[in-house]
Amino acid sequence: MARCLPAVPAALLLSCLPLALAMAPPADAAAPESRLLREAAELRDRALADSDAWQHAWSLTTEVGPRPAGSAGDRAAVTWALTRLADIGFDEIRPQPVEVAAWERGTAEARVVQPFPQRLTVTALGLSIGTPETGIEAPVARFESLAALEAAKPEEVRGRIVFIDERMERMRDGSGYGAAVQKRSRGPSVAAARGALALVIRSVGTSTHRFAHTGATRYEQGVRQIPAFALSNPDADLVTAQFAAGEEVRLYLYSSARNLAPTRSANVIAEIRGAERPDEIVIMAAHLDSWDLGTGAQDNATGVATLMETARFIAMMPRRPARTVRLVLYANEERGLDGSRAYTGAALQAEQRHVLGIEADGGGGLIYRFDSGVAEHAFPVIDAMREILAPLGIEGGDNTARGGADLSTLRAEGMPVLSLRHDMSAYFDLHHTANDTLDKVDPEALKQAVAAYASVVWIAANVEDDFGATVPGASD
Ligand SMILES: [Zn+2]
Repeated sequence: MARCLPAVPAALLLSCLPLALAMAPPADAAAPESRLLREAAELRDRALADSDAWQHAWSLTTEVGPRPAGSAGDRAAVTWALTRLADIGFDEIRPQPVEVAAWERGTAEARVVQPFPQRLTVTALGLSIGTPETGIEAPVARFESLAALEAAKPEEVRGRIVFIDERMERMRDGSGYGAAVQKRSRGPSVAAARGALALVIRSVGTSTHRFAHTGATRYEQGVRQIPAFALSNPDADLVTAQFAAGEEVRLYLYSSARNLAPTRSANVIAEIRGAERPDEIVIMAAHLDSWDLGTGAQDNATGVATLMETARFIAMMPRRPARTVRLVLYANEERGLDGSRAYTGAALQAEQRHVLGIEADGGGGLIYRFDSGVAEHAFPVIDAMREILAPLGIEGGDNTARGGADLSTLRAEGMPVLSLRHDMSAYFDLHHTANDTLDKVDPEALKQAVAAYASVVWIAANVEDDFGATVPGASD
């Protein structure tokens, strides 16, 4: 992955500061006062110069490593978070028990049997069942897309291994993922409903290297479950190339993956209590779990590390924020959002007032854009945030932000969100692969991220007005 530096060096940033203040929005009912903007700018500059989120990322990927939900690594990650957060200056830290879906990868194997026998680089999809002990050998039915499979006649599929060869598009905003991931989540049931024996997909990812990308699949209720695998992109090319000979292509597949009884994990919740309105919560979200193939560096040690360091800088401010700033490190995002549902269920029941949310789950690339999903009356505050972010090389976006996966359950209840968009051009080269390791994390980019998250969260936690609905319940 290309190393990158923040677009604007720290020294230049300081000289930009008076300009940013000069451009502060005119007096408005919801416009932050200049003292708050000055604090946010100072916090931004201090974080850009002195933050060290990389240390947290180093520690999580090195001392804990892979942490799939329900595993020993996952339990170690919860203990790691509880211990490490204790040094950050929070007023309260607590685990929230969460029941998580447990799954064991086992081993997987794939090869072309004919026309030209070769071994393939493959991985089981998360939550997939395994094959019989003797594996599965069958002719392959290849489809260009999930839509093509959906349009297929059962006789083209029955008794075969279905191969969906759909490619993912490389995009700065990562939007190629949403389309490409459908074949992973829905593919097995679509194939099984037409009589397939197993499913193999081209990895949902942009890497041209020989790493298969895992990720969760989901079996539809009432449809037969079949084993599901992902081939690395070059191996998907290899299978496709074998079809060029015009002969039947046969694959052999083996997997010992299995689903296990649900087990225990935990969300880790830590908060800096608001000095004036402690019952109003600004929530910062990242997921603590990871896939097992790599060390979960980009996904999502970078998000965890960035928000831990953001909280540390907020806790070091000379005063407490007006609102409570709460960091939630979620359990089992990857295999079904168990932590998200548990958190939101409990928060709604306790009628905890969530004013705004921001999530970090887009990797450690430089942030290039700032989007919001707030009520119009909060636009003056968003404009002020944009001006604070501009010297970091972050441009203003639009008001269509929906937050990340873990915040989706609160967003569904109407909670407003902010979104700092990380450059994801290279993210899906690593995502969910054995290659998602610490060496790809750029410490300088993390400094920019901490500066951005800290300054917008500081403003959000101190302005008078809300951002629209508070969850649960509505304020006017
Ligand atoms: Zn993630």
